[in-house]
Amino acid sequence: VLEVGIGNPGPDGEQPSMALPEIWSNPVESRLSDSNLLAEVFAELMPRGVDEEKTEQVVSTMLQRIEEGLVGRLTRAEVIDGERVEGLRTEYPFTISNPVSFETVPRTRWTPDGIEQLAGIERASIDMDGSIDLALCSSHEDGTSSIRPIDLKTEQAASILDDSGSLLDALGNHATEPANDAEIEMLRHHRLQLALYHRALEMMEATRPEGQRRRVERPAILVGVTGRLVIYPVEMFEQAQAQIDDILATAARMELATELPLADFQRLPQSKAHVCAMCPFSMGDLPICGPLSETEASIET
Ligand code: SF4
Repeated sequence: VLEVGIGNPGPDGEQPSMALPEIWSNPVESRLSDSNLLAEVFAELMPRGVDEEKTEQVVSTMLQRIEEGLVGRLTRAEVIDGERVEGLRTEYPFTISNPVSFETVPRTRWTPDGIEQLAGIERASIDMDGSIDLALCSSHEDGTSSIRPIDLKTEQAASILDDSGSLLDALGNHATEPANDAEIEMLRHHRLQLALYHRALEMMEATRPEGQRRRVERPAILVGVTGRLVIYPVEMFEQAQAQIDDILATAARMELATELPLADFQRLPQSKAHVCAMCPFSMGDLPICGPLSETEASIET
């Protein structure tokens, strides 16, 4: 519904402050509160067996809160803190190529005379694709232009029905910093995804001639249950950017090396057991991995 229903105020004047594709800057009235649109989307996408009445109540409440929140106000051309939205794109598809470098990994083969090294690899390029829920383009009163990746999250959606939940506690807070532990945890959980979206937009902007590039703002999560726009704090965002590079380098080494010692990949400690709980290696009747027990951890140290 957000993809097809969000309004677009278009530029303040004939042209946007920095060039945008026409489809990004065409003014469009918001349809987020349009019950016909909701009915159309439900008719097309609602899975069987779902309680339609409750789903409609949850979705229409979320849409109403988004419309009344910062994103709704900005996309109705309201100027907030010197920022005016002048264009946007929903479900923006991207493909990026990430160059990564790492400690040399050997490609080897067995020979009767022993293992023979065929190559040593120390750089790779990892291609990734995806789509960004919402890229919001703005002009600012200081004359600059920006673009911000935003992802809608519908976690705790059912809490709308009983009007109680940790994310709901922040309802009515208009600041863009995380307002409580639930929002911090939500940001932390999705930090790598959002850091990747930011990187995709940085790469897109870098292809434009100098002087015609938008500043890529820190990413934000649009919290569905409250309609709040929560922007990543600087420190969390910078850590996520660094973690992406580490993870990509590890993934490339695992993929490229003929053999890597298991000791290079330490199991996670008990304090990270929640990560293991989502890992395929720790699932099923016979899990093949899991977090280190306290005894194992003390032996390793
Ligand atoms: S189950 Fe094993 S592989 Fe999976 S996250 Fe935990 S330690 Fe890592």
